[in-house]
Amino acid sequence: MPAPSFSKSSTDRLTLPQVITVDGPSASGKGTLSRRLAKEFGYIYIDSGAMYRTLAWWALRQGISLEPPLPAAAEAEVVGLLRRWKAEMRLVDGQGWLHVEGYFPATEIRENAVEHAVPVIAQISKVRDWMVARQRDCVRLGPLVMEGRDIGTVVFPLAPVKFFLEADEEERQKRIEGRGGNTSAARRDHMDSTRKKGALIPALDSIRVNNTGQTPDETFAILRDHVRSRLGL
Ligand code: C5P
Repeated sequence: MPAPSFSKSSTDRLTLPQVITVDGPSASGKGTLSRRLAKEFGYIYIDSGAMYRTLAWWALRQGISLEPPLPAAAEAEVVGLLRRWKAEMRLVDGQGWLHVEGYFPATEIRENAVEHAVPVIAQISKVRDWMVARQRDCVRLGPLVMEGRDIGTVVFPLAPVKFFLEADEEERQKRIEGRGGNTSAARRDHMDSTRKKGALIPALDSIRVNNTGQTPDETFAILRDHVRSRLGL
């Protein structure tokens, strides 16, 4: 008897997570564009950077010093927090946010102290394992647009649409200054790109979009058209 045949698209739909991944360095446009893509296609938006920031904020609040190089004792304390804190993903207006003890520190995680500490905790292997597991769990919420650094490479390597956003350093720096940001972006990008696990690198099968000199509308149209043609939406 001949083996049953499945068309590629029907098997894809059975096995692939409904996830669009958007990775890239700071100020490459990930946040704005991911949010817009999620809205356009009715997907849930997840900012994975906010999850790392939330842990950094919580660790600082517990009095843990996060100055690099992080001593083994401080690393163990951060990992201990992951076992104790009451953290859960909650959906708010179509977006999934990590809440701690029922609270999402939306403003606090954008403060300079957190910005400085976050790439340090993001280098801890057990922290990354914890985050990746929670991020994968998000598929239970529905189809996702997830932005970050390692989403297309580590978290969802089988995602059907992956973007890697880039922009020239000078332009990214201007965007950061325009937002009233500080100068820590280059330091963060360096730490994010050179760590051993979950480093910021483009997935081989990602669509790379350099949006230097483009308006957000122009870049959005490019991403939207890729999603439409890849997912038949
Ligand atoms: O995206 P955002 O700038 O908010 O990310 C803050 C930091 O969180 C990054 O600089 C990086 O250190 C860490 N991060 C990460 N992996 C991700 C997302 C963010 O290590 N997937």
